[in-house]
Amino acid sequence: MATGSIIDNSQLQKDNKSWLQFLSRRKSNAPFQGEKRCKFVVVGAGFAGLAAAKRLAELHPNDEILLLDAREIGQNASGRNSGFAVAHSHFPGRFDAKLIKGYERIDRLNAQGLDILRTEIINNNIDCDWQEGGFYHAAADKSALRSCTEFIDYLTKRGVRHQVLNQDELQKQLGTRWYKEGVKVNDGALVNPAKLVKGLVKSLPSNVTLHENSAVDSIASGSQITLRTQNAKIIADKVLLSCNYEMAKLGINKHKIMGVTLTGSFTRVMSERELRSLGNVRSWGVMSLHGGGATLRLTRDGRLAIRNTAEYNRSDLFSASKTKERGQLHRQALNNRFPQLKDVEFEHSYSCVEGVSVNKTNFFEKLGDNLFVAGGFNGSGISKGAVFGKALAEYASDQTSELIGDCLNCPGALWMPPSPFLGVGARFMMRQRFKGVGKDR
Ligand SMILES: Cc1cc2nc3c(=O)[nH]c(=O)nc-3n(C[C@H](O)[C@H](O)[C@H](O)COP(=O)(O)OP(=O)(O)OC[C@H]3O[C@@H](n4cnc5c(N)ncnc54)[C@H](O)[C@@H]3O)c2cc1C
Repeated sequence: MATGSIIDNSQLQKDNKSWLQFLSRRKSNAPFQGEKRCKFVVVGAGFAGLAAAKRLAELHPNDEILLLDAREIGQNASGRNSGFAVAHSHFPGRFDAKLIKGYERIDRLNAQGLDILRTEIINNNIDCDWQEGGFYHAAADKSALRSCTEFIDYLTKRGVRHQVLNQDELQKQLGTRWYKEGVKVNDGALVNPAKLVKGLVKSLPSNVTLHENSAVDSIASGSQITLRTQNAKIIADKVLLSCNYEMAKLGINKHKIMGVTLTGSFTRVMSERELRSLGNVRSWGVMSLHGGGATLRLTRDGRLAIRNTAEYNRSDLFSASKTKERGQLHRQALNNRFPQLKDVEFEHSYSCVEGVSVNKTNFFEKLGDNLFVAGGFNGSGISKGAVFGKALAEYASDQTSELIGDCLNCPGALWMPPSPFLGVGARFMMRQRFKGVGKDR
């Protein structure tokens, strides 16, 4: 650990850029130093922390809201994800009428998350390649084809607008015959996540003060909360923790959340001729209907992006050499789908960690009188991060609402065994998630 803090902020972290690679560098805000007393501190500036800070600032216009992040903006899951802002979550398995309340609750949360982001983007003119109109869910192998049938049944029973697509239609739209069947859900948005995060930071209200490279190393609760970073001490009335799987490093939910390391690659920008071989939709996203399958994007600037590995690596990024090895799996998967583009080189590969719980649930809770926690969105945290962050700010401001009720009513996370059993269990769990992935990888 380069900084000596509990958070890895090494060069490896900084080099793992994903979408940030293609953006101009922004000057980061100075780390927090010294001592301070304040009313509200938000720890973690991903989608959840940014939404929480923004909402606190609106509710408490006369207070300063301190927002601390261990790293530079975008060097997190929020800046490096695949950019599917989901409206309707895909629940594996058959439609179950007994679970209807849960389905509806998650969709209400997704819809409000999308609304929050859409409003921010419009009001602040954020250029982030936001594209409404949904995306594709597709199946190439037996197990995913079964999921496809179940998902179509689910969408029909829930009255969700969608179109079922056969292999020929998929080829026409996406330029690949690899998928045998798919479904396009009409709601949801595609986005360049790094541009979105940067835009959200730029449009934070003036009473939010953001400090980067300011890892909180300890939290001591009492009638007030004392936070310590390497060079600072902050005493706060209320603290909102939105630091994803890294809450465990602060001793919070450490037997309930872990980090899973994902890898992906981006091609170079393709030529017009290459792009024409990709069907008649100019920019799209495809999610596999197998939980362990690939996610693919054709980006607005004409790159293919793929992510198709997820492994337990002690909640850390991969080394450059391991990431490069994973790049070969990305290459194979792209060649399978688009043999016509096998000569289109990758510009770079990256790894990134997401917060996962055994039963794929979220965290939204109040610990003691003044510590509030949201996070762990299990690979679906763009819409959810935004809405849970907003709800957390309202909860910490003593409000009550249907939104807060929905967040509180999400099922609790199941317990995970401590190390060394955690590693064994986590690797087993990830292997199970990839079982039967076949051609969907
Ligand atoms: C490769 C990949 C692809 C994904 N694709 C999608 C997708 O297409 N759609 C989707 O909805 N979701 C996707 N996800 C999941 C989604 O990115 C996350 O769920 C979401 O970004 C989490 O947001 P967050 O604000 O909770 O956490 P993060 O974005 O992880 O932010 C947490 C922040 O807390 C900071 N922090 C941690 N500890 C401390 C500390 N002690 N002190 C100070 N700061 C601290 C970190 O530096 C970090 O910036 C993907 C994730 C990955 C990794």
